[in-house]
Amino acid sequence: MTRVVHSRADLEAARAGRFGDTAVVMTMGALHEGHLALIRAARASAKTVIVTVFVNPLQFGPNEDFDRYPRTLDEDVRMCEEAEVDVVFAPAVDDVYPGGTPMVTVHPGAMGDVLEGAFRPGFFGGVLTVVNKLLNLTAPDVAYFGQKDAQQLALVRRMALDFNLPVEIVGVPTVREPDGLALSSRNRYLSTEERTTALALSAALAAGAQQATAAGIRSAARAVLDRAAAADPPLGTDYLALVGPDDFLEVADDHAGDAILAVAARVGGTRLIDNVPLRIAAAHPAGGEKNGDEAR
Ligand code: AMP
Repeated sequence: MTRVVHSRADLEAARAGRFGDTAVVMTMGALHEGHLALIRAARASAKTVIVTVFVNPLQFGPNEDFDRYPRTLDEDVRMCEEAEVDVVFAPAVDDVYPGGTPMVTVHPGAMGDVLEGAFRPGFFGGVLTVVNKLLNLTAPDVAYFGQKDAQQLALVRRMALDFNLPVEIVGVPTVREPDGLALSSRNRYLSTEERTTALALSAALAAGAQQATAAGIRSAARAVLDRAAAADPPLGTDYLALVGPDDFLEVADDHAGDAILAVAARVGGTRLIDNVPLRIAAAHPAGGEKNGDEAR
């Protein structure tokens, strides 16, 4: 039986008498199979599972989709019930921001200024501030985050390390549609034609993942995005980047080791992101090995 609570006091009451460890999955609602992968991992690992549903105003820019972001709490609760979630915590803005606009916020540092942070100024400050708040409100032993938002996951890990937070952060691989499109609450904005164009994100990552070197990965992925720029409707790429998984800085052309190939692009009025983790083998005199990882 899933309890749905909206205030800090009701959350504490719902947890009273529950012993054992707690796992939390933080979401903005409009739940889909990607969220469910996190919820299932949480369910498999902990006695108590809390799912938070909160569209955080602090992480939306003035021209972003805060007002039109999908809000489907009844359906979210139904999915949580089916997944045997113990508590859905869907607080009001005033519960999360009891002092109004916060004076004290989390500063993400240099990793928060690149890629998503460069295109969405203030975004990661808003994300880390609300993640910190929701960790304090739910006091979990473990928190699950999607690899889909790889830069966010890296920053949350870094915040947990730098703030000595008493929580384990666990990443969960990206869930995709059969044709490669990464599941996202924003996919529901896409028309059929826009969705076809949007397949270029995962196709670009898959093309990059076939290559053996950083330079080859970048150019193969870029070629797919360039073709999609001429599609109808067209794809507008914000960035394509091959970065280190812990700092999100571009890796050198002769980089060997782990990397993340990340892309952000717009189609119609919708902005989408995707990424794939890769391992680049050291150059071998007999010729390059292909990269094993694929985006779909
Ligand atoms: P959101 O509701 O978009 O803020 O996402 C909540 C959590 O679900 C974040 O940790 C996301 O990274 C994760 N998530 C969203 N989409 C996916 C997906 N397709 N696969 C795996 N995790 C996802």
